[in-house]
Amino acid sequence: MFKREETKQFLLKNLKFGGNDHIYIQSMCNTKTKDTEATIKQILELEALGCEIVRVAVLDQEDAYSLSKILDKIHIPLVADIHFDPELAIIAIKEGVDKIRLNPGNISNKEKIIEIVDLCKRKGIPIRIGVNGGSLPKDIAKPTPEHMIEAAKRHISILEELGFYNICLSLKCSSIDLTLEAYKLASQTFPYPLHIGITEAGTSFKGLIKSSIGISKILDLGIGNTLRVSLTDDPKYEVIAAKEILKELHYIQNLPTFTSCPTCGRTAYDMIPIAKEIEDYLNSVNKKIHVAVMGCAVNGPGEAKEADLGIAGGMHEAVLFKKGKIIRKIKEEQLLEELKKEIDAF
Ligand code: SF4
Repeated sequence: MFKREETKQFLLKNLKFGGNDHIYIQSMCNTKTKDTEATIKQILELEALGCEIVRVAVLDQEDAYSLSKILDKIHIPLVADIHFDPELAIIAIKEGVDKIRLNPGNISNKEKIIEIVDLCKRKGIPIRIGVNGGSLPKDIAKPTPEHMIEAAKRHISILEELGFYNICLSLKCSSIDLTLEAYKLASQTFPYPLHIGITEAGTSFKGLIKSSIGISKILDLGIGNTLRVSLTDDPKYEVIAAKEILKELHYIQNLPTFTSCPTCGRTAYDMIPIAKEIEDYLNSVNKKIHVAVMGCAVNGPGEAKEADLGIAGGMHEAVLFKKGKIIRKIKEEQLLEELKKEIDAF
């Protein structure tokens, strides 16, 4: 089995991709790529939240010729997602994109594949092959782990025959069990870095649950060099979720921890909006700090004594506590502002 540290390594822009224990967070824009203003804005927002690789869909020449404009303004590697049109891949590579996602088995013109591979070699651009359980070749009837590996082999062998090995592979489907088995088999079969995730997982409620379970099971095997939490939602939630999964599994440190009580009959203030706003505020904080928002001053400070700082509500006011010790009282209308100041000063 090729564990994440043992896969082949290559450069993706400035990132050492594969062959180490870093699991890169990635997401995909849901803007129209030709709307460069909206796409750049979204990518910059994703970057600020911790996204390390971003992908955009390239549907036509207008999208493809927009890539250099986007590349000028962003800082993380940009991946062009191409389906069947080799001309779009060629334009994207010439525009300076950092990686392409393309399944060579879907392109019937061999000359064009040779041209794409030559360009990628010259420019040092890797190719991601993406096998999706829902769109396997027609002669492969059912999505089983073995069939997904068979589909991957067909694409990979085309590149290998041309002496191209800077390959990243994904094998996604919407079933956790099937995805897990497919990745296990892939790590035993190919030496290439793996892009992991559960695809078409759902919205940011059920999708998060499904993705968290599936991704953590795959990561526990010691495989996965980059991940995407696919959600039917604003891609910023994909990045926030990926960070949270990696933090809870101890793959990344130096990020905030947030706790809040489940609320009960003792909750003495309008706590849920405050908890949500503080949790959201912490998404853009890059330091190790444990913050708690608790419902009552009787049990809150004690129940959250591990927290570096927190608030616990009372009638029209709350107490600020640090490591379980009450420091001072704050009026309800100043709670958010005061707690944010304490977080910034920590
Ligand atoms: S901290 Fe207080 S309000 Fe929150 S669950 Fe515990 S007892 Fe209930």
